[in-house]
Amino acid sequence: MLITQIKEKETIVSLVSGKVFIINCQGCKEVSFPVEEAEALQKELAADGKVTGILTTDYICNPENMKLRLAKHQSEIDAADMVLVFSCGVGVQTIAEYLEGKKVCAACDTYALPGYQGVTPLEYDCDQCGECYLNITGGICPLTACSKSLVNGQCGGAKNGRCEVDSNMECGWERIQRRLAQVGRLDVLKCPVQVRNYATDKEV
Ligand code: SF4
Ligand code: SF4
Repeated sequence: MLITQIKEKETIVSLVSGKVFIINCQGCKEVSFPVEEAEALQKELAADGKVTGILTTDYICNPENMKLRLAKHQSEIDAADMVLVFSCGVGVQTIAEYLEGKKVCAACDTYALPGYQGVTPLEYDCDQCGECYLNITGGICPLTACSKSLVNGQCGGAKNGRCEVDSNMECGWERIQRRLAQVGRLDVLKCPVQVRNYATDKEV
């Protein structure tokens, strides 16, 4: 099991800039999803006239299905300045990669619980750290894309874009910088140094 818990309302409101398209993932039985809290918050955003559309679906971590579903909402996505995703970390990473020119933000933190973790057809991974950093890393998980799980990369050891720990992989923080540049958000790297809160880590 894993748990998705909505971030503080103030945090989400501070993320929302301009118009927003919202995606809810409610399909995976291994993930506890905060349906009522999400609906209440989304109603408030809609009442402020900020929402161009809402897609509530299942298994957003399946990219083939998501392409078809997102295509039906393309005009609403185009009308939005950003996409806010209520799902586990894998779902947010799927959407961020598919909508690579769009600002995509995570509305939830993902925590681990013991037991079956579900399946995903993707190579993306979420380490269920309990304090999702995807909003400052362009939708690429720094814990799983960086060999040292740095939340303040990069370490300086990369050579020709390859990780110093594992030369078979691209440096995760170079990928993050490239993605942020692509969506015009390099400024987020000027935010105060992130200190990882290990109290949220692993099983609750
Ligand atoms: S930062 Fe990575 S490990 Fe932490 S919740 Fe987000 S996707 Fe999962
Ligand atoms: S080279 Fe890049 S991916 Fe490898 S440990 Fe350093 S920052 Fe992380």
